[in-house]
Amino acid sequence: MIILAYGAPAADQPVSRMEITRRAPGPHDVKIEILYCGICHSDLHQVRSEWAGTLYPCVPGHEIVGRVATVGSHVTAHKPGDLVGVGCIVDSCQSCADCDEGLENYCDGMVGTYNGPSADAPGHTLGGYSQQVVVHERYALKITHPEDQLAAVAPLLCAGITTYSPLRHWGAGPGKKVGVVGIGGLGHMGVKLAHAMGAHVVAFTTSESKRADALALGADEVVVSRNPDEMAAQAKSFDFILNTVAAPHDLDAFLALLKRDGTMALVGAPATPHPSPNVFNLIMKRRGLAGSMIGGIPETQEMLDFCAAHGIVADIEMIRADQIEPAYERMLKGDVKYRFVMDIATIAA
Ligand code: NAP
Ligand code: ZN
Repeated sequence: MIILAYGAPAADQPVSRMEITRRAPGPHDVKIEILYCGICHSDLHQVRSEWAGTLYPCVPGHEIVGRVATVGSHVTAHKPGDLVGVGCIVDSCQSCADCDEGLENYCDGMVGTYNGPSADAPGHTLGGYSQQVVVHERYALKITHPEDQLAAVAPLLCAGITTYSPLRHWGAGPGKKVGVVGIGGLGHMGVKLAHAMGAHVVAFTTSESKRADALALGADEVVVSRNPDEMAAQAKSFDFILNTVAAPHDLDAFLALLKRDGTMALVGAPATPHPSPNVFNLIMKRRGLAGSMIGGIPETQEMLDFCAAHGIVADIEMIRADQIEPAYERMLKGDVKYRFVMDIATIAA
């Protein structure tokens, strides 16, 4: 079936309207009419081949929400009319230890929602800046938020789970001091989620203009990280720091803020490496420097249910499909509060 999408024909060409094909749903597939798709900084990295290895045409988008149109004959999890989400994963081997544990995100055979291997044309997966998507039922999540919040639910499918998973893994909760570095799409979700988990939350931003907003998101304190005195006042006090920054920067400045045995997890994935941290900053206080990638399917459902129960959605700015390139440019300047979401109906406009 031929549908409309927004994608880039090559790394040096802008995202524009194109036609793509979707497979007919198989027995375990659901066909979803996409309503909204969030714009992740990973979309920008990949559509411009900043991580290298992008396959073209590239149709980004892995913060998908929509309505089930049809289901295959063996599908039991979803039915036509259901509101569902699709995040960063559309397939995995379904038989390794990681898949068995519901950690499909760490499966060696994990297939990304775009730029992953696929038997479907054009030989790689195409993402959610498109009118429809067809996925195996395992990778479609149930949405229980009120329907009028649907656009603001979309970013939970990547920004939400990418921050929820490490916050849970490293034990954010009452009695813990948690830092969130970079208050963009991921970071603003990290602040909301860590606050809802009961932690004492400190937001670190380079943008003075986000100081007041970050308090409104649920931060207990805000530090403008360009200010050395504000940074020094936080030394050796954190149990956990979640670093979402999309560009290379000095990690030592944040490692020095961890307590003994504290951990900083990196989720930001800059196109070029961070300067190497000073090993003494780790050794002297038995500190950990770690990474984390999105989250598995069961934990993504847990996160959506947690957000529905706590009334949590993303703070969004809706854009039309033809505004995607200016949106990327604003994202590069940190000028987003806090996630762009594409209204998929505008693809056909
Ligand atoms: P975003 O909305 O653009 O937010 C990034 C934030 O980082 C900015 O708003 C800014 O916050 C801060 N920042 C500081 N210096 C920066 C600079 N020189 N350039 C850009 N940002 C700077 O991005 P996002 O969608 O949250 O994604 C953040 C990173 O996480 C990206 O690299 C993305 O690819 C990666 N990611 C990783 C995973 C994973 O599974 N690990 C999943 C999704 C995304 P302040 O204004 O507050 O300083
Ligand atoms: Zn993403």
